[in-house]
Amino acid sequence: MIDQMINHKQNDSVSRRKVLTGAAQALAAIAVVVVGVPTAFAKGKSAKEDFFFQETPDEETGRKCPTCINFTPKSTGDYGADSGDCALLIGDVCTHCYCQGWTDKNAPGAKKANT
Ligand code: SF4
Repeated sequence: MIDQMINHKQNDSVSRRKVLTGAAQALAAIAVVVVGVPTAFAKGKSAKEDFFFQETPDEETGRKCPTCINFTPKSTGDYGADSGDCALLIGDVCTHCYCQGWTDKNAPGAKKANT
């Protein structure tokens, strides 16, 4: 009887060890996935369609990326020499593009997205 209890205890401890080992391995796998997330997602950028991104200036106001605080020009990219990076959106934007995240770069207190 005592032998059976000891064996039962040992089996419990082996089972617990297996569960804990499995849980640790699962957590390690999650950590690898999180660390491997593309930089854009890590910085909290959004998809272009979420901000109604378009490749033309706003028709009513003439607003476009170069007057937006989120715009950083660059000489190469999807739009060639007119390309730029956006602090808000994933992917290249352009000097004649626009989206609803436009923020006047000259407005007092204007703050770049995700900073
Ligand atoms: S937030 Fe919109 S308007 Fe501003 S740079 Fe990004 S895409 Fe252009």
